Amino acid sequence: MTPNTTFAIVGAGLAGAKAAETLREEGFEGRLVLLGAESERPYERPPLSKDYLRGESERAGAYVHDEGYYAEHDVDLRVDETVVDFDAGRQELALKSGERLGYDRLLLTTGSMPRRLSIPGSELDGVHYLRTLADSDALRARFDAGGRLVVIGAGWIGAEVAASARQRGVDVTIIAPHSVPFERVLGSEVGAIYRDIHLDRGVEMLLGAAVESFEGDTRVERVRTQEGRTIACDAVVVGIGATPRAVLAAAAGLAVGNGILVDRRLETSVPGIFAAGDVANQLHPRLGRLRVEHWDNALHQGPAAARSMLGSYEAYARTPYFYSDQYDVGMEYSGYAPAWDRVVVRGDPATREFIAFWLADGRVLAGMNVNWWDVAEPIQALITGGHTVDERRLADPDVPLEHTVLGEVPS
Ligand SMILES: Cc1cc2nc3c(=O)[nH]c(=O)nc-3n(C[C@H](O)[C@H](O)[C@H](O)COP(=O)(O)OP(=O)(O)OC[C@H]3O[C@@H](n4cnc5c(N)ncnc54)[C@H](O)[C@@H]3O)c2cc1C
Repeated sequence: MTPNTTFAIVGAGLAGAKAAETLREEGFEGRLVLLGAESERPYERPPLSKDYLRGESERAGAYVHDEGYYAEHDVDLRVDETVVDFDAGRQELALKSGERLGYDRLLLTTGSMPRRLSIPGSELDGVHYLRTLADSDALRARFDAGGRLVVIGAGWIGAEVAASARQRGVDVTIIAPHSVPFERVLGSEVGAIYRDIHLDRGVEMLLGAAVESFEGDTRVERVRTQEGRTIACDAVVVGIGATPRAVLAAAAGLAVGNGILVDRRLETSVPGIFAAGDVANQLHPRLGRLRVEHWDNALHQGPAAARSMLGSYEAYARTPYFYSDQYDVGMEYSGYAPAWDRVVVRGDPATREFIAFWLADGRVLAGMNVNWWDVAEPIQALITGGHTVDERRLADPDVPLEHTVLGEVPS
């Protein structure tokens, strides 16, 4: 790479910022441009539904780097600058400001955006989505006013917002189509534990229910369900999942399908163009096609893509991992289990301190440690090892996790 080489990164979120950091750490001396549609420098989103939303942490704590970092490392960070188009053949980006920017290598870290609800009343004031710092600020202001919040959806964002609202003394009703929270990822048995955690904190749960409309004059005052319930409220949060921001890539002719399709080393269908983070649908070496919408993935895929831009052929092979905090219940989930035939639990869920494992054919596909720390690594070793395990030992808190593999004798 010569100093005249230009690397461009579209999307100044966590994946983009960590990619820029890695490029400089790995000795890239060319021109480095990081383009972000938001008016903020790159920040992390997890606090937006947790401590920051509750007013317990500062805005400064969310940023990926100090303010001076980008100038100090000669990263041309352009905030408020949307890439509106790009020509993959000419290797040129079209910016909202009218500028055209040529590049030698390109990384797309455009992330994802909340899925919108389109029902009567969905444009009323007081109907919130949560993706940005500004969204979190607006929601926090609603909390200050008290009253009742209706949360649509019982996924991670909905559940965390519900928990933060209860912690701030706001009344909460959750409306979700599933029979328990996180049913698709955790299944009914473990999802029920989370349902109970919220019920214990006074959340009203309308499960197996669907929202029909939002009602009110100019701002939302009621939520009506298809089952005929009407809930008076002061605000609504819609948390029904996210969609990858792959429109730009699709328009430029890159292969897309539930995100931007990338190979093992995060290169797209067009050589020299890479993608990472929420938007990337990777051919994972062990797990097949996979798009991961979690913090850890953005944190590590950004740097991995940066190394690929510099010529590395190493595959990105990390085990998917995410975490969630609700009230005083913290958890880490490692692995990927689209289907399983057994759930094994170590510890007593009633104490809110346990590990759940999802197994198929006697092998651990995923594990979730709840209020039980420093075990994510051995759980991930069980997953990547791919050996069959002794379920009785797996359930026994006295047996170290590394001694649960069948055929291995505890020392
Ligand atoms: C409220 C909230 C809480 C979360 N909590 C957790 C958690 O507890 N645990 C966990 O594991 N994960 C959590 N996540 C998920 C995690 O934050 C995401 O996986 C992570 O932010 C993905 O990073 P990214 O860089 O890929 O994308 P993003 O963070 O979405 O960043 C992409 C950036 O690209 C910009 N962009 C898009 N298109 C363009 C364009 N054309 N031109 C210029 N810029 C563009 C966007 O404006 C955005 O700033 C949470 C997410 C949210 C929203």
